[in-house]
Amino acid sequence: MQPSNFDFHCHSRVSDGLLPPDEVARRAAGNGVDLWALTDHDDLGGLADARTAAEALGLPFVNGVEISIEWHETPIHIVGLGFDAAHPALVDGLAGLRQGRQERARRMGESLAAIGIHGVYEGALAYVTNPNLISRAHFARYLVSIGIARDVPGVFQHYLAPGKPGYVDHRWAGLADAVGWIRAAGGVAVVAHPGRYKLSGADMQRFLDEFKDLGGAAIEVVSGSHSPDHVLHFARLARRYAFHASRGSDFHGPEESYVDLGRLAALPQDLKPVWRLIV
Ligand code: AMP
Ligand code: MN
Ligand code: MN
Ligand code: MN
Repeated sequence: MQPSNFDFHCHSRVSDGLLPPDEVARRAAGNGVDLWALTDHDDLGGLADARTAAEALGLPFVNGVEISIEWHETPIHIVGLGFDAAHPALVDGLAGLRQGRQERARRMGESLAAIGIHGVYEGALAYVTNPNLISRAHFARYLVSIGIARDVPGVFQHYLAPGKPGYVDHRWAGLADAVGWIRAAGGVAVVAHPGRYKLSGADMQRFLDEFKDLGGAAIEVVSGSHSPDHVLHFARLARRYAFHASRGSDFHGPEESYVDLGRLAALPQDLKPVWRLIV
C-alpha cells in the first residue's frame, strides 16, 4: 500500500464533531482520502460504523482515538492508531477518563453564571450528541448561538481557554496511562497537534523525551492546527527524535473547521509516514 492522502485525525458526533461516523467516512472518500482513521475524543463508540461505511466505499480504515491527558498541568492530546478496540486496558481506561466530564461541565456552567452568563450548561446540553462526552466545543457552539462571540475560536479566546472564566481544571489521564493503554492494545501512540501546546522549547523537549521513553512512536507534523512554520519545526523534531510523522485535518464539521478532510499539505518527503507502522 502506498497512500498519498492519508488523514489520521478527525471527529464525529461520538465526541464533538458535527457529523455521524458514516457521513465522515463519505466526506473523507469524497475528498480523496485514501487511508483514514476516525479519532474521537476519549471514546471508541464510532469506530464500528466508521469502518463499515469506509469499507463499503473501498476506503481503508484504521482504528483511532484522541486521548485527553495532562502533563505537568498542560493539557495535551495523544492520538492512538491501529489498536484492538476491544482491549480491556484501553476500553476501561477511556471509560474512567469520560467519567467526570459531566461534573466538569456543570462547574463550567456555574463559573460562567458567576460572570453573569446564565443557563450555559443547559444550553450546551442541546448540542451534545454523546451524553458521556460533553466537551468545551459544545459550550462554544451554544455561546456562539446566543451571540456571546462571533465564532467558536472567539469563544475559546475569551471564555473557554485556560485562565478564562469558563475554564475549569480537570484531572485527565497521565502521559504514561495514555501511551500504556494504546500500546497494550497493540496500537501506535502519536502526539496530536504539538504546535498548539503552550510549552517552552525546553519543556517540549522534556515532554518528547518522556513520550519516547514510554514507547511513543510518532508526532503529527502536518495538522489542521499547524502553520507552515509549525510544519518545518515539527519535521525537524521528528528527524531529531526518529519519530514517524502523522498527518491529520482535525476536522470537526463542515462550517467549523479550517481544514477539510484530506485537504492538507503533503508530509515532507524524507519523513517516515506513521501508516508504515500500522498497515
Ligand atoms: P475539552 O476536551 O472539553 O477540553 O474540549 C476540547 C475541544 O475544544 C477540542 O477538541 C476542540 O474541539 C475545541 N477547542 C479547543 N480549543 C479551541 C480553540 N482555540 N478554537 C476552537 N476550538 C477549540
Ligand atoms: Mn474536539
Ligand atoms: Mn486535540
Ligand atoms: Mn482533535
